[in-house]
Amino acid sequence: MTRVLLLIDHRENRRLLADWLSQRNEVVIADDDQALKTLFDVGIIDGPSLNRLWKPIQDRKIAELPCFLPLLLMTARQNVGLITRQLWQSIDELILLPIEKVELMLRVEVLLRARRCSLDLKESVFTRDEFLLVTAHESRTPLATIRSLAQSMASSLESGQTPDPIQIQQIFQAIDQQAETVSHLVSQLRDISRIESGQIILSRKITDVTRLVEGVTLAVQISANSHHITLIAPAPVMAWVDSLRLRQVLTNLIDNAIKYTPEGATIDLEVFTADPQTACIAVTDHGPGIAPEHRERIFDRFYRIRSGDDISGMGLGLYISRQIVNLHGGRIVAEFPPDGGTRFVISLPAASNLPLYVD
Ligand code: ADP
Repeated sequence: MTRVLLLIDHRENRRLLADWLSQRNEVVIADDDQALKTLFDVGIIDGPSLNRLWKPIQDRKIAELPCFLPLLLMTARQNVGLITRQLWQSIDELILLPIEKVELMLRVEVLLRARRCSLDLKESVFTRDEFLLVTAHESRTPLATIRSLAQSMASSLESGQTPDPIQIQQIFQAIDQQAETVSHLVSQLRDISRIESGQIILSRKITDVTRLVEGVTLAVQISANSHHITLIAPAPVMAWVDSLRLRQVLTNLIDNAIKYTPEGATIDLEVFTADPQTACIAVTDHGPGIAPEHRERIFDRFYRIRSGDDISGMGLGLYISRQIVNLHGGRIVAEFPPDGGTRFVISLPAASNLPLYVD
């Protein structure tokens, strides 16, 4: 809710304003400069208060930059000449009394809109800077590894040593893995910017979710031999999905299960229908689970529990997954079985009628 700060000496005007504005805003009444240090979205001030508080007002407006913190002066026409102290550095709008209630409301609303725009812009700039910082930080390690592998190869060749073919193969595999990490980071960032600008468009078809999950399981099993993956899936479960995007979500959940559980552990996948309208996919691991204080936040953008450790990631996978599932009209939640581990459940609207087209 927006917060309106009233710095009005005139008691009756203050009461009237507070009554009108509190219908749509939180109204805070104040008479000293302490109030200017609190959070508010628009200030309404009269002549006597402005004469007293013009300096702290200017300080607060400067402190708020680059955001716009609007201040509106209300004064009687005959008093306006008395208010001279750097008026336009303190005030963004002037209302001469008497004024119609509807006009006042409208003028306050326009200022609040300008305030919201400036806050949104600040948030976008902050997000962009955060992207850049996290990307720079996360790509540093794989790029440094690629460089050092390439340098060691070059120096062996320079010194006339014939590298062992197995060693060469290992080096190329390591380079490939590190390059894949960077390319994964880049595609996560591309997804995020598409999500933020509302540009992710799903290409949906009626799809057999069971077959899709089987396909992903098979692909992961081939590449990840450190974990054992099981799948329980009944006969076809049909849903209207973008299969590429759903594969991306599943792969992310399985990758996390692999990343955050010890080698040799089992990861259980399950496809089921919670009711005739809902197709579900669950990915359960038997790892350390997630401590209660972090559970609320794991789907937040850039949220990582053990940031700074040697497990790579930007805290974007679950955020992107949730956005993709939401776009399908579904939901994704994390559950925490009593015997430990983490269970992620995706629920999607099932295609309850006979399929028109099976992917
Ligand atoms: P990241 O790329 O950092 O893995 P995610 O958004 O996929 O980002 O996950 C956010 C955080 O949630 C992770 O950093 C990790 O701490 C925690 N997390 C996700 N999946 C699991 C899991 N299966 N077990 C334990 N912790 C997990």
